Amino acid sequence: MTARGRKAWRIRGHSVVDMDGELVTPLVQEFAECVYAKKDGTGIWKCAVEQAFRKGETPVHKPIDCHLYPIRVKKLKYHDALNYDEWPICKPACVCGSKLDVVVFRFLKDPLTRAYGADWYDELEGIYQEWLRSPRKHIR
Ligand code: SF4
Repeated sequence: MTARGRKAWRIRGHSVVDMDGELVTPLVQEFAECVYAKKDGTGIWKCAVEQAFRKGETPVHKPIDCHLYPIRVKKLKYHDALNYDEWPICKPACVCGSKLDVVVFRFLKDPLTRAYGADWYDELEGIYQEWLRSPRKHIR
């Protein structure tokens, strides 16, 4: 975490309730970064929770909503709707994914498996494979 992130974390706590009544991570200040964001040596912002989790320094993973981004989950009566959230800030990641031919759901295999389980993910992969073989795959 950054020094200002730690300072805000001490004041606001590990989470706050937003305008929609949802539990969210606090920001350093309004319209600023999350308290858990930190820059690495190359100037790229990273998640301190994720970094610590990957190093085995904490059993706590970053919130599932963060982990699933750019997919946003909308809870419906009988199921979840998973929607792709288009945001210009993500353009470089989209260009990279396109170059490497990585579709969003495969990029999100770990968080999707974390949220819905390995069987669910395998079924999704199977549906995608079926769609790829379909002569109508150009129709969206
Ligand atoms: S991934 Fe989530 S918890 Fe981590 S820095 Fe970003 S907003 Fe904060």
